[in-house]
Amino acid sequence: MPSVHDIAVVTPRKQPLHAARFSRPSLEAFENPLRVDAAIHYLDSRGVFDWVDRVDAPQAKIEDVRIVHSEYLIESVGIMTELGSGDIGEASYASPELMRAALYAVGSATKAAELTVMRKKRHAFSLSRPPGHHATTSAAMGLCFFNNIAIAVKRIMTNGSVQRVSILDFDSHHGNGTSEIFYAARNVQYISVHEYDYETYGQGHFSEIGYGEAAGTKVNIPLLESSPDVSYESALTRVVVPAIQRFKPDMIAVSAGYDPHFADPVGNMDVDSSTFWRIGSTVKSLVDSTGCGGSFWVLEGGYNPLALGPCIEASLLGLAGQPKPDLPDQIPRRLQPGIAEANDEILDQVLETVEPYW
Ligand SMILES: [Zn+2]
Repeated sequence: MPSVHDIAVVTPRKQPLHAARFSRPSLEAFENPLRVDAAIHYLDSRGVFDWVDRVDAPQAKIEDVRIVHSEYLIESVGIMTELGSGDIGEASYASPELMRAALYAVGSATKAAELTVMRKKRHAFSLSRPPGHHATTSAAMGLCFFNNIAIAVKRIMTNGSVQRVSILDFDSHHGNGTSEIFYAARNVQYISVHEYDYETYGQGHFSEIGYGEAAGTKVNIPLLESSPDVSYESALTRVVVPAIQRFKPDMIAVSAGYDPHFADPVGNMDVDSSTFWRIGSTVKSLVDSTGCGGSFWVLEGGYNPLALGPCIEASLLGLAGQPKPDLPDQIPRRLQPGIAEANDEILDQVLETVEPYW
């Protein structure tokens, strides 16, 4: 096993209790404190903290949030927290603990970024909630209030520690907030692998490539619903790896959403923990081969509390350079006929769209 000095998991010592007043199967009810509690319990029971350092997350300050978000959004989160409930945006419901939880999630992501930038850790994983990648500069949505990863990226770029950052987002859903925040930023590459409905369309189409001088730095990989592990492997080898190699980042940031898991109640993909190991392993290889400083990971989705722990363990093992673990969720599943071939054609179109800018 690797040295405990290489990798950290950053999480608040006491988990904030933010939870919307809904019962399952409403979307809001799946984003609850059990997610992180169950994951930590699982990682602990597997002995992961014997080889991964556990670091306490600090609470961020409001001024940290201001580097990305509008005063109106910040005030809305504050007012709704005081009121104790209420919709701030689409599927973004407040609770009396919301502001505390949101500031811990920002503090946790920022701490993970700083640990890697300051070379205290090679890789750091922020295991905190609520997630962030749907939050735009001025709007909460999709269970997200403040964009944790965007704030962390801007923070390390503002203080001059790093000039170029690649963000890899493998949550099942397109990170519209992160994409909006960096759409015209040529020094921030945003690569998103997500499920996409080619009958109704929506944001996250591969035609979204970035604005002006940032064209080609936004790489959307919209895969079909029910995409299997083999399609994620193709997306990694054919698009993600060459995109990051050519961009030459100083740091890799990962929006780590585990809702593509086949047993997830919210996502519609068909992968298991082997894909999340592969992503960890790929990021480790990219860090080692491109000479970039490291990677920091920020939890986004992943709403099956029994699947989240094994998936995070698999990612950490990949980052540690360990072989793919055989975990109990890796069961044989029937592939949808033709889906791998159809996804390969989508990858052709992604490459035709962005490669001319590289
Ligand atoms: Zn998601």
